[in-house]
Amino acid sequence: MKITAIDTCLLSVPTPKPMALQYPQHKLVVAEIVTDEGLRGLGYSLVFNGGGAEAVLTYLDTRLKPALIGEDPLFVERLWEKMFRVDMGIKKQGIAAYALSALDIGLWDIAGKAAKLPLYKLWGAVSERIGAYGSGGWAKYSVDELVAEAEKYAALGCKYYKMKIHHPDPAVNASRVAAVKKALGSGVRMMVDVNQGRDVIGNQQQARLLEEFDLVWYEEPVLADDYDSYAEVSRSIRIPIAAGENHYTRWEFKQLFDRKAVQYAMPDVCRANGFSETLRIGKLAAANGVALTPHLIHEVAIHVVGALSNGFLVEFMDWAPPDLFVELPECKDGAIRIPDRPGHGMALAPKAIDKYRSR
Ligand SMILES: [Mg+2]
Repeated sequence: MKITAIDTCLLSVPTPKPMALQYPQHKLVVAEIVTDEGLRGLGYSLVFNGGGAEAVLTYLDTRLKPALIGEDPLFVERLWEKMFRVDMGIKKQGIAAYALSALDIGLWDIAGKAAKLPLYKLWGAVSERIGAYGSGGWAKYSVDELVAEAEKYAALGCKYYKMKIHHPDPAVNASRVAAVKKALGSGVRMMVDVNQGRDVIGNQQQARLLEEFDLVWYEEPVLADDYDSYAEVSRSIRIPIAAGENHYTRWEFKQLFDRKAVQYAMPDVCRANGFSETLRIGKLAAANGVALTPHLIHEVAIHVVGALSNGFLVEFMDWAPPDLFVELPECKDGAIRIPDRPGHGMALAPKAIDKYRSR
């Protein structure tokens, strides 16, 4: 089998409410890999809030796409190495890693279709039903909007809800968490997300005010680059730490694991160099006693969690309009059943490209 073409485009996808209060749109870098045997693989990368999506598309088109044309798509590992090393002057982090991720996702989609297996079974399945946590709770929501969103996820059976704690005053964040906790009752546990917004002392002050809420995890306390501060926060607060949506390779995760800085690893399949590297990160996490709970894009991340025994939850954030994909896996009784379709099982709706294309 040979790759004959890779069709790319950029979609600008409006978000539903209440997320639209914080972010009006996301962008999707789409790469459809075409082969001479009729199999096609859908790759995409979700660029949250859209920042940098044009650069992702340009890097994909000009540097990675030429490396794949004419190659056998079933040699996924070989092609991953080729893409990772195509420019030794550009680290595969940030923009370049988003681009590589989209193509790796497309290659694995072809591999699953060729094997006539959903990816989690191709990789050796552990579970076909993946627990999902409701996620959102943005800073611009009023307390009423926050509670309404949390209750919407709870009504879908989600046993976990994650919200942002972005207010500069730790007491304000604690009172917002308290309001949601009170509304949800004891059947739903919560996580909080700092999104790299505080320093070590700021996190210590914030975490003290949240200890009483039995939180599952405390996410991205400091800048993703600052591994020593990660370790210091982890040592000094009494809530487990989660991180990884801004870490792109197994070597970055190793920095976190070697310092015992996280209890939950959260690679994003669309950022962390695709399924290939996310699986490696998941296995490295297992060797360090760390649970894997991927960031966003639950519709494809379910395959990774379904294939690894240290897989925990996927992040269910209701961002996609109903006419973007042919069929988005549903959350029912707090879990998502992995579709039995071969590959990753996702396809864009026939009119989605015409409707949402921005480049
Ligand atoms: Mg986060």
